[in-house]
Amino acid sequence: MTTGPVTGRIHSWDLSTGVDGPGTRFVLFVSGCPLRCLYCANPDTWHMRDGRRATVDEVMAEIDKYRAFITTAGGGVTLTGGEPLLQPALTGAVLRRCKEAGLHTALDTSGFLGARATDELLADTDLVLLDIKSFDVTTHRKLTGGELGPTLNFATRLDRLGKRMWVRYVLVPGWTDDPEAIDGLAAFLAGLGSVERIDILPFHKLGAAKYDALNVPFPLRDTPAPDAALVDRVRGQFREHGLVVH
Ligand code: SF4
Repeated sequence: MTTGPVTGRIHSWDLSTGVDGPGTRFVLFVSGCPLRCLYCANPDTWHMRDGRRATVDEVMAEIDKYRAFITTAGGGVTLTGGEPLLQPALTGAVLRRCKEAGLHTALDTSGFLGARATDELLADTDLVLLDIKSFDVTTHRKLTGGELGPTLNFATRLDRLGKRMWVRYVLVPGWTDDPEAIDGLAAFLAGLGSVERIDILPFHKLGAAKYDALNVPFPLRDTPAPDAALVDRVRGQFREHGLVVH
């Protein structure tokens, strides 16, 4: 039996420095996401059907153009979205080809579909950027439309595999600033030896124009960004548990 080339739906790609893993990264935005986070900055990636079809060869050819640049800068390739684990065949194939090419790989995921990540896919992933949206099950459901359990199970599995993790936490006043939930999350993460650092990402509204363009209501339009004192308090809470916080 012959099989065709692996294809998938992608939104776009870009270069970034500092936020999507070490060094300068080629960032591939994979289309489609099963969650609907109220603060999502990329609502234009939600639907797989809106992405354009691409083969893994096409993606790799594009990455190859930037190869010298991203390797010189100590960077690599990051798959994000949307949710890259919604298309595990595409994501797994790109990660595999990057590893074969000697590139550092990172996977940015909510972990909600972590069960779709095979051990092989994870073996080809050097670093997981795990987005944990809330540690309170009710808040998580209201904030994302999905359950928290799969994300925590995935974090535990990654730790068992010894997979390096950077945890990302979007801080939204009135939603994810509850001290008790943050303490619970920090205690949970402190128990996972492979968590290397926590990135506190202050909520912002840079995606608001995308909602307007899509004619979709932006539910947090009137929610303020966190002030410096709140960001400091939350960073301090994670540090109290011995975690490295950025
Ligand atoms: S998981 Fe990411 S892409 Fe999906 S809705 Fe949430 S913030 Fe947006």
